[in-house]
Amino acid sequence: MTECPECAASVESHDKVLGEVFPCPDCGTELEVQAVDPFAVQPAPREAEDWGE
Ligand SMILES: [Zn+2]
Repeated sequence: MTECPECAASVESHDKVLGEVFPCPDCGTELEVQAVDPFAVQPAPREAEDWGE
């Protein structure tokens, strides 16, 4: 388990794989798995995709 870099919510590592992008369950920030042992995440880059408004 680690913490969301945006809101410090607990983020669980189960079923996550290296490079996986998932939303923080608390704040919804897209997080990318940087390492699985120990588990670490960083905010995922967002410039590649534009979902529009
Ligand atoms: Zn968060």
